[in-house]
Order: sequence, then structure tokens, then C-alpha cells
Amino acid sequence: MKAYVVERDALVQNIQALRRFAGSVPIWGVLKGNGYGIGLVPFSRILHENGIDHYAVTEIKEAEVLRENYPDASILMMRSTADPAEINALMDLGVYLTVGSYETAVAINGVAAERAAIAQVHIAVDTGMGRYGFLPEDSDKIISVYEYMKNIKVAGIFTHFHSSFSNEKATKHQFERFTAVVEKLKTAGYDTGMAHCCNSHAFVRHPEMHLDGVRIGSAFLGRLAFKDKLGLQRIGYAECTLEEIRWIPKGQTIGYAAGFKATRQMRTAVIGLGWYNGFAASRENDIFRIRDSIGGILHHLKNLLFPRRILVEVNGHKCRTLGHVGMVHAVVDVTDIDCAVGDKVTVAINPLAVKGLRVQYR
Ligand SMILES: *Cc1c(COP(=O)(O)O)cnc(C)c1O
Repeated sequence: MKAYVVERDALVQNIQALRRFAGSVPIWGVLKGNGYGIGLVPFSRILHENGIDHYAVTEIKEAEVLRENYPDASILMMRSTADPAEINALMDLGVYLTVGSYETAVAINGVAAERAAIAQVHIAVDTGMGRYGFLPEDSDKIISVYEYMKNIKVAGIFTHFHSSFSNEKATKHQFERFTAVVEKLKTAGYDTGMAHCCNSHAFVRHPEMHLDGVRIGSAFLGRLAFKDKLGLQRIGYAECTLEEIRWIPKGQTIGYAAGFKATRQMRTAVIGLGWYNGFAASRENDIFRIRDSIGGILHHLKNLLFPRRILVEVNGHKCRTLGHVGMVHAVVDVTDIDCAVGDKVTVAINPLAVKGLRVQYR
């Protein structure tokens, strides 16, 4: 038995805490990457049951699945696309399209005109993320969309923060650039619709930035880079069973490269999870800041000198892994605990890293 477990009650509590904090501001549930790894359909269903009926996605397929399940939901395609086939598909689904450039606007307007329809869009403003969006200094181009694109209706405007998990100053700067564009458009008499900029970290840290809507993904899973004040619970862990238990003599080696050698007689157990499943898969590649890279180097050095203790939980006890975690196996030290083959083991794995495990809601 192996599974990735999602605790439904904890997830619901997180959703409720986030909704309370948002007050009357609508939350777009961001569901990219198969709903952050815990399943587009089951995750969106729990959001829907708990009052969240705005969803943001990056793939046509995701929009299709959501529309099929929630005929009345608001769905935003956050990725700007100028592909006529994609534009047609999104318009068929009644999804808000993102206009990230003048060229995209022309393409969307053209398709909409052919259909004798009006495309509902959100304007993306690039305040530093560098993917999609009009640069703040190009607000004239946004005005051209209002003026000349008769088959486009602007229903919203948004930007995306690049460092809200770490750099408040950069986030404030992006916020100011964004709101300056929104104000400029409003002052000139254009209706911007819903203005939104917050992702999870900005949402939790900067209530003053909530504006007319927020886009939340990782906070639902309680996985933020800093301790939040909302009491969010960390969602998701892997579960498996002890597969084989044995006594090994002093001097026995364990795992590839004989990474561990017993200095005494020990009782060990094999579990069927490894790095392929996302267990002990290194996070150190995910480097965003200089201090992280320096931290990463020190971390590697420390691991070299004092091998990291990778822990799992067996019958409520923390047990260390012995030697290197394998592709689909690991060996744990159960010398001092009461356990038997078939007992449950829980293992910390990020849902975004998990692979080869069935997601089970409980
Ligand atoms: C992924 C994403 C979000 C949500 O980010 P979280 O930090 O997971 O809340 C919001 N907006 C855009 C444009 C995104 O791509």
C-alpha cells in the first residue's frame, strides 16, 4: 500500500481561513499543474463546495474540465495566447482570455469578430515577471485595445509578483507600477474591471494589495515560504508500509555506494518510497536568492561532513533513513521502536514533487 494522502478537513480549514482573510474580495483558485499536484477535479470540487467559484488555469484542458464540472464558474486563462485554435476553444468555453500584448489583442479581436462575438479578457501588465503583459510605460497600447478592438471587452487587469515570498520592497515596487497603470486608465475614463495582483505570499503579507481579487494556489496547501499568521496547515504526505524488517550485524553496509555502515547490530526496515516518488528529492536546485545559494553551498558542505538525517514516521516515532535513499526504496532504522511488517509509515513529500503515487483524499 502506497498513497499520497490529502487531509480533506485540514484543506477545508485552510480554505475557510483564507476566505475569512479575503473578506469580500473574490479568490481565484489557481489550479495549474494538476491542481498543485493534488488533482484538478478533487481539489476544485473542495474549493467549489467551500464557496470558491473563480478558477485560474494555464491549459485549455484544465479549462475544459472545470467548465464541464462548473457551468457557472468564472474561469481565467492566465496564459496569454494568440493561437486562433486556442482562442476559439477558450471562447467556446466562456473563459476569460489574457491579453498580454498588442499582437495578442489583435489576434483575439480577429477571432472574436469572425465569430461575431465579444471576447471577455483580462489585461496582463508586466511589472517585472517578464512573461506576459504590457509594460507599464506602454499603457498607450492598452488604451488602443479599448479604442480599436471592438470585439474585446476588458473585464479585468492583473500583474504577477516575482518575489513576494522574499522581497517586500520589490513587491511594493511592482504594486506601485501596477496601480499607477490602473489609475491612469481609470482617470482616462476606461473601465478596467477587476484589478488583481496578489498570489499567496502577497495575499498573506500585504492585505493592502488585495484590490478587487486575489489569485491563490500554494496557500491552500499551507505551503508558504514564511510562517503565516492565518494558522494554515501543511497539506499532503506520502504513506506506505514497512515491507521487510531484519536485524543486521555490525559492519553491514546499506544502499548504493555503501553510504551507511552499521557500527552495531541494528534492526532495519525497508519502505517502498524513493527519490522517484519525490522523497528526499533535493530542493537545493530551487535557488532564487544569493543568500540561498550561499546557504545551499553551506548546506551541501554540512551534508558532506554531517550527513543529513532524513526522517520518516513509523507508529508515531521519528525514524532516520540509513544510507542513500534509492529510486523506489529506502531503509530506515527501527532498532528502538516497536513495529512489524505492514505497519504504516508517513513520509514528507511536497505534492508538486510527488510522482507514481495515487492521490487519496481522507
Ligand atoms: C501560479 C500563479 C499564481 C498563484 O501562485 P501561488 O504563489 O501558488 O499562490 C498566481 N498568479 C499567477 C499568474 C500564477 O502563475
